[in-house]
Amino acid sequence: MTRLFNFGAGPAVLPLAVLERAREELVDWHGSGMSVMEMSHRGKEFMGIAEKAERDLRDLLAIPAEYKVLFLQGGASAQFAMVPMNLLRGKSTADYINTGEWSKKAIKEAGKFCRVNVAASSEASKFTTVPVRGEWRLNPDAAYVHYTPNETIGGVEFHDVPDVGQAVLVADMSSTILSRPIDVRRFGLIYAGAQKNIGPAGLTIVIVREDLLGQTLAGTPTMFDYKIQADNGSMYNTPPVYAWYVAGLVFEWLKDLGGLRAIAEINLRKAEKLYACIDSSDGFYRNPVERKCRSWMNVPFTLLDPALDDAFLKGAKAAGLLQLKGHRSVGGMRASIYNAMPEEGIDALIHYMREFRNKQG
Ligand SMILES: *Cc1c(COP(=O)(O)O)cnc(C)c1O
Repeated sequence: MTRLFNFGAGPAVLPLAVLERAREELVDWHGSGMSVMEMSHRGKEFMGIAEKAERDLRDLLAIPAEYKVLFLQGGASAQFAMVPMNLLRGKSTADYINTGEWSKKAIKEAGKFCRVNVAASSEASKFTTVPVRGEWRLNPDAAYVHYTPNETIGGVEFHDVPDVGQAVLVADMSSTILSRPIDVRRFGLIYAGAQKNIGPAGLTIVIVREDLLGQTLAGTPTMFDYKIQADNGSMYNTPPVYAWYVAGLVFEWLKDLGGLRAIAEINLRKAEKLYACIDSSDGFYRNPVERKCRSWMNVPFTLLDPALDDAFLKGAKAAGLLQLKGHRSVGGMRASIYNAMPEEGIDALIHYMREFRNKQG
């Protein structure tokens, strides 16, 4: 067996310990004679798995009791619609912060349901920074304020939660959730597709303050109503049982590691090392993002001479470093270094980057 280092943005690397545990339990889960894939979601085995996963996630993020945790499908992209459908609550406008490709998609979708006020944007800087809170022009009539704490494609991240006072703050945390501790109380709603920092694709986590539920837009499909999902324990229909189970294994892995404080320390160290390698390359490698908002999770970089991109990627693959090609919209390279990317993966990448540069003279 060979495990290579997978820097893909999503679906992304999972902890080896989690994969091994899943393999061990694959055909006969804990003497049940069944795989988790084959279980009734309403049976006591899966109910136990589901409840434990939620408990562990609540522990990790210190989620207060007045927040519901939903295990849904449709990815973060479905949330682009579900958020306005559920959170407009009779209002006709919402504030959005535009920091890149994912914000733009959220804005476009919300525009189908309400008047979107783009309260701040970093488009003028080509999304190489995030707009400081002082520049946001929030609308007092807005139902909520939506932002993207980590832009997976651009590699820009808010390292502090913006203060929006009593406004309902909504965050697309797809590529940063569980990378560090956060104060859930600062948010009305947090959502994340699982395939970056949680588990396999097919699962979407929503954490939502209970008092925001129950005022869904008329005509909202049943499956898109948070209140119905919450009242049914995310089992109004068949949930993605296997993805839910593997997410639970990831939560256990994080707890064993020491929780979010421990992983944050590791993540910061990993990111700093990689940025230091880029910054000390005399311009051979370049990351365009302003230092104070560089992402801990997604590190885009370009080569001084784009004609070398193919050779870089080919050599990387031969060195066991996979999926480093940048997003098609920006080109260059991108190293996604989520929780499950071991520090040795970063060291191997840095070693390769130095060697490649030296070879070019
Ligand atoms: C990947 C990603 C999405 C889209 O997620 P899907 O689960 O594929 O819908 C949305 N927002 C952010 C920040 C992402 O990283």
